[in-house]
Amino acid sequence: MTINADNQNPIMNSAEERRRRFLEEFEKPFKCEKCNERFKKKKYLREHKSEVHSY
Ligand SMILES: [Zn+2]
Repeated sequence: MTINADNQNPIMNSAEERRRRFLEEFEKPFKCEKCNERFKKKKYLREHKSEVHSY
């Protein structure tokens, strides 16, 4: 069995994907439930909501 580093392994990809998503959720835990945009701070989410989803 040979391991080709250039070959994109789908298992590796999904692990990488999970890691990325985890980091994203960790860094930006505040998610807008209307457009799924993420924010680092609750304040930013509040500002976003008042600007983009103001009514
Ligand atoms: Zn939004």
